[in-house]
Amino acid sequence: MEKVIGIDLGTTNSCVSVVENGAAVVIPNRGGYKTTPSMVAMTEAGKRLVGHLAKRQAITNAENTVYSAKRLIGRKWNSPQVKQVASSASYSIVEGPHNDVRIQLRDKPHSIPEISAMVLAEMKLIAEEYLGHEVTKAVVTVPAYFNDNQRQATKDAGAIAGLDVIRIINEPTAAALAYGFGRNIDRTVAVYDLGGGTFDISVLEIGSEGVFRVVSTNGDTFLGGEDFDARVIDWLVDGFKAEHGIDLRKDRMALQRLKDAAEKAKIELSSVREVEINLPFIISSGRNEALHLQRVLTRAEFEKLTGDLVDRTVEIVRQTLDDAGLSRDDVEDVVLVGGMTRMPRVERAVAEFFGREPSKGVHPDEVVAVGAGIQGAALGEESSMQSKVVLLDVTPQTLGMMVAGGLFEPLIPKDTTVPTMRTKSFTTSRDNQTAVKILVMQGENDQADKNELLGEFILTGLRRAPAGAVEIEVTFEINADGIVSVHAKDLETGKEQSITVTATSGLTPDELRDMIDAGEQYAVERKRDEEYEGRKQEAESLIHEIERLFEKVAKVVGGSDYGRDALDKAHTVIEKTRAAIARRDTEALTQQVDALSRTLRMFKGVVQKA
Ligand code: AMP
Repeated sequence: MEKVIGIDLGTTNSCVSVVENGAAVVIPNRGGYKTTPSMVAMTEAGKRLVGHLAKRQAITNAENTVYSAKRLIGRKWNSPQVKQVASSASYSIVEGPHNDVRIQLRDKPHSIPEISAMVLAEMKLIAEEYLGHEVTKAVVTVPAYFNDNQRQATKDAGAIAGLDVIRIINEPTAAALAYGFGRNIDRTVAVYDLGGGTFDISVLEIGSEGVFRVVSTNGDTFLGGEDFDARVIDWLVDGFKAEHGIDLRKDRMALQRLKDAAEKAKIELSSVREVEINLPFIISSGRNEALHLQRVLTRAEFEKLTGDLVDRTVEIVRQTLDDAGLSRDDVEDVVLVGGMTRMPRVERAVAEFFGREPSKGVHPDEVVAVGAGIQGAALGEESSMQSKVVLLDVTPQTLGMMVAGGLFEPLIPKDTTVPTMRTKSFTTSRDNQTAVKILVMQGENDQADKNELLGEFILTGLRRAPAGAVEIEVTFEINADGIVSVHAKDLETGKEQSITVTATSGLTPDELRDMIDAGEQYAVERKRDEEYEGRKQEAESLIHEIERLFEKVAKVVGGSDYGRDALDKAHTVIEKTRAAIARRDTEALTQQVDALSRTLRMFKGVVQKA
């Protein structure tokens, strides 16, 4: 039975879980941590580092260390969000070939799905080491507010990592699943999720039959912990500038250190009332003297710096309830998700708004992965769970197309339960029009160009006729992953054309295939490298032990021909091992490890007898 893992691919941290014996287990990584930083780095030697290893060297290798790639996934090069990230990131962001975004790591630009794939591959590996077998299927979560481009790109990332993403589910829905699964409850809950990069709010009805129905969802994909960090960074930079007249933003290394210090201070302020931020030798002055940064930040000051961010989340919550036609009293429980909800001011704001203390039962960092794992098991072959979970999610943004005058014609309104399908008929607008172009968009603006363009396609070969005489039927479909496909049909000729709207997710099918191949290749190389490293360590410790005994053994048997022969042989084995290490020859090394073990046994025997 193939296990399906659940992955929470977070902006800041990622987490993986799997259901075993009916319960979801959050799987720790090699370091024993249940969450892994969503960071990727390339060392000078061209070695890829992911997770804690990447985070640990971020300061000294800031330009080649990527964090928060999720903020860029599925976005267009010329979008304001990309500009914002580009202006503050310590790595360099370059334009891709399809108005997409690439990140330069050493000498190579990488697409965002490739970067996210490195994180996903790491989560896959963590699960494989725990389960002891290969894993190929996963449920991956995304912010509810992700549009089609972002979902597609996340799916692409899965494919590059060697994972078949069998379902994409929304983070708040996953959280509700973790909260309500198996509890046989019947209630309306709000999931307030403030993570590293995104804010999401969803209202769900949980029914005792295991039905999880999303009533309304809303969010901001550019509002999260990093914005809180940024406020602290601004405060530090401004203070430093006032004192020394030097702009620390100009120095990438200083900026990375500030970023680390700001996040650390923020986290500490969740449990203490003030912190001292201390960054010695942050930069040198024009006269070559080292300058230090040292300031005290109080919780009150921090709350003042970030008050508007918290208010913005509350405003979105209010809007979401309004959209759903619900009052605060209709919400019977509030689930907090995301590391940022540990900030006391955030928790207080939520409690004040709803007039009730949030539920404490679920772990904010793990709950989304747990939900994904449960959904994975339900979709997989864990048959006992299949009947117990029914997820009825909604589409977070209105789907429609551009019509005459640049207006946006909605076809599937936001908050419609998915999967869903809508059909609409249109007529040609010009005489003898033989082709019609369909621009598929997502968003809430009446002006089409203010919404996100998902893709476009052209239906050709229409009959020449006066305007209005040819009728075209357009069908928009959203599947359970929230992914859009559209097809158009000329009703007269029956001619049809369809697309899965991938045109602007950034990667062509060829590119994607190449990246999947490269991903596979990397996995093979990594496995080979690890095997080699393991053998090498084994060999080196055997050599060490043999060399330690050498003198003693030589004393005992060195007098005889037989003994000298044995010592020579031991030398030869060691030499051959060192040569295999130098050649990185794992196969030879495996043989040498056997030979070394035999030598060591013999040596130990001699020493014991003597
Ligand atoms: P997530 O995306 O859910 O992993 O949330 C990560 C965000 O939560 C990051 O911005 C962290 O800095 C922040 N965070 C983690 N722990 C705390 C804490 N104790 N207090 C405040 N923020 C935190």
